Amino acid sequence: MNTFEQLGLDQPFLDAINDLGFETPSDVQQQAIPILLQDNTDLVALAQTGTGKTAAFGFPMLQLIQAESRVTQGLILSPTRELCLQITQEMHNYGKHVQGLNVVAVYGGASVNEQIRAIKKGAQIIVATPGRMKDLIGRGAVDISRIQYCVLDEADEMLNMGFYEDITDILSHTPEDKSTWLFSATMPKEVAVIARKFMHNPAEITVGRKNVGAENVTHEYYLVNARDRYLALKRLADANPSIFSVVFCRTKRDTQKVAEKLIEDGYNAAALHGDLSQNQRDLVMKSFRTRQIQMLVATDVAARGIDVDDITHVINYQLPDEVETYTHRSGRTGRAGKSGVSMAIVVKSDLRKIQAIEKIIGKSFIQKDVPSGMEICE
Ligand code: ADP
Ligand code: MG
Repeated sequence: MNTFEQLGLDQPFLDAINDLGFETPSDVQQQAIPILLQDNTDLVALAQTGTGKTAAFGFPMLQLIQAESRVTQGLILSPTRELCLQITQEMHNYGKHVQGLNVVAVYGGASVNEQIRAIKKGAQIIVATPGRMKDLIGRGAVDISRIQYCVLDEADEMLNMGFYEDITDILSHTPEDKSTWLFSATMPKEVAVIARKFMHNPAEITVGRKNVGAENVTHEYYLVNARDRYLALKRLADANPSIFSVVFCRTKRDTQKVAEKLIEDGYNAAALHGDLSQNQRDLVMKSFRTRQIQMLVATDVAARGIDVDDITHVINYQLPDEVETYTHRSGRTGRAGKSGVSMAIVVKSDLRKIQAIEKIIGKSFIQKDVPSGMEICE
């Protein structure tokens, strides 16, 4: 195990790491940082959510760019607005001891003009969703002809969301000799196509399925009749009064419905899904971060990558269609060494899926009974 210093990071970054309280580099950081710092390398990194990818590409990018120059040298593409904001915040934390650094977030649903103004001030690094980035390029509002480092974060998710054409279009406006760093939890064909098309002999790393805190997560399932799902959710919330959780539903409609019922029943809950306006989503996230909301009811896409500290419970109101998605969900809790519980409310026909998930996470679920009303009163 190397220390951050042994990985080749300079003092301003070691100071920032110290401020953040990171003690040792995570697996993906161990592997990726020395490769990326060599400069001029392309990288394909397979790593699940919660493995510390942001720092794995963020620190090398910050160390390699010229902060004295105002030219845009780094571009980070990421699937959602929430992730863009989060990555931008992290980059500010990582680069807080670097003079003159300007990292700008570019995403849909917010004022284009403000984003253009921020870029014109001289942003060395842009963190963007593909849609808005393409829009800005089309308007001639951003010059990416001197990009040297391009990150495709959560590449599988961006492609799932239909960003293939936007991404290829954006990349075609960047220099041929830049370095491209692709991060993805899975390697479907579309990701391989992007890698083949835009990368030259990329180094490849794979990080085990283990999340930064995965060993601290307990997995539980509660077998109920389909009509008792909502009651089970309430009982689980009641049995854990200090719960701070993300509740996952399969569809936007269910997400909205469950959140509305919880609010009606007096819980501090809110919905997060793609049909909300950007403003509404920002407000919800702010209330969640500040703990005014205890139960964030969300779709997978909306909650993707959201990194809020100290989430105590992840609740699968319904199991996801794809078993891999379960690891993304449960990765919201048990982060940075804290313990967490991932609960699944299931019906009989879900039990096969539970077995498939157990194989993927390499851990067994504990079957538990939904707490009865009596127990909660005691
Ligand atoms: P990913 O992008 O792989 O989902 P993140 O970059 O969002 O993961 O990091 C997940 C969490 O782990 C964040 O809260 C981050 O601050 C924390 N983290 C990252 N690297 C370390 C480290 N080396 N030590 C402790 N915590 C870390
Ligand atoms: Mg990430």
